[in-house]
Amino acid sequence: MLTLNTIKDMIQYINKEKRSQRTIGFVPTMGYLHSGHRALIDQSKKDNDITIVSIFVNPLQFNQSSDLEQYPRDFERDAAILKKDGVDVVFHPTADEMYPNQPSIEMNVTKRTDVLCGTSRPGHFEGVVMVLTKLFNIVNPDKVYFGSKDAQQVAVVDALIKDLNFNIKLIPVSTIREADGLALSSRNVHLNPYERDEAAHIYQSLLKGQRYIMDNADWKRNEVINITKSYLSEHTTGKIDYVDCLSFPNLNKDIESKHDIIIAVAVYYEKARLIDNLILDSSGAIKYGSE
Ligand code: AMP
Repeated sequence: MLTLNTIKDMIQYINKEKRSQRTIGFVPTMGYLHSGHRALIDQSKKDNDITIVSIFVNPLQFNQSSDLEQYPRDFERDAAILKKDGVDVVFHPTADEMYPNQPSIEMNVTKRTDVLCGTSRPGHFEGVVMVLTKLFNIVNPDKVYFGSKDAQQVAVVDALIKDLNFNIKLIPVSTIREADGLALSSRNVHLNPYERDEAAHIYQSLLKGQRYIMDNADWKRNEVINITKSYLSEHTTGKIDYVDCLSFPNLNKDIESKHDIIIAVAVYYEKARLIDNLILDSSGAIKYGSE
């Protein structure tokens, strides 16, 4: 496995591989890898000749400096995992390499961000599209892999690729969970043992909302939210940031009968904010969110 730290080296490598007609799969991450990331990597390895993983904790997408500072990092451990998984290249630039100057261009996401994490984390998705635009231009992949755990990110990347005409196929990958249903996340290390046990109920709350949709052909959005929220508030001491039910990927409150549906929640624990969701087809069956 190659470790490349500079944009110049990365572009040189890609140009060589493209000349050899090899297909490139790309998995952008912020590191501290777990089996969720590995599901994306496995899918990329199945679909492409070359798999490239980036590890970059992007300062632009953190709206709180304490969150950025506390974000777990361990490159040696990550590199060992990637090597064992048979990844071809890890791209691991510094913040100075990615942002040598204050950028002259700002990106503004005007749709799909007035709900869910877009309202709780102002500026977050602007930082995400900025770094992804740079990474897509540097890596020039055929396919990119994103976890449906971060479903709003999938919706925004879908818009980014279409609006800016990137010649890239977006592949969403279902959420990988612990045995009790907790979605794997690098932030789970910040939960105390009590919070860790309680956090399993986040997934259960989503399943309650989904069950209501499955059982009621004339289901109502507000009722999905109420059922999910009631279960969550009865079973966790964490502070609920949001519970919502929207169309997917447009993330509208008006959900037509043909639309896919997302039920999404975010909960604050003492040192971690956890998010989770289920993406359903129009009948309420799970499409993404659970293996
Ligand atoms: P992160 O390092 O948290 O930025 O995540 C990198 C990629 O891994 C994103 O596309 C995430 O959606 C995805 N990911 C994170 N957790 C999971 C999970 N539990 N299951 C599947 N994908 C995940």
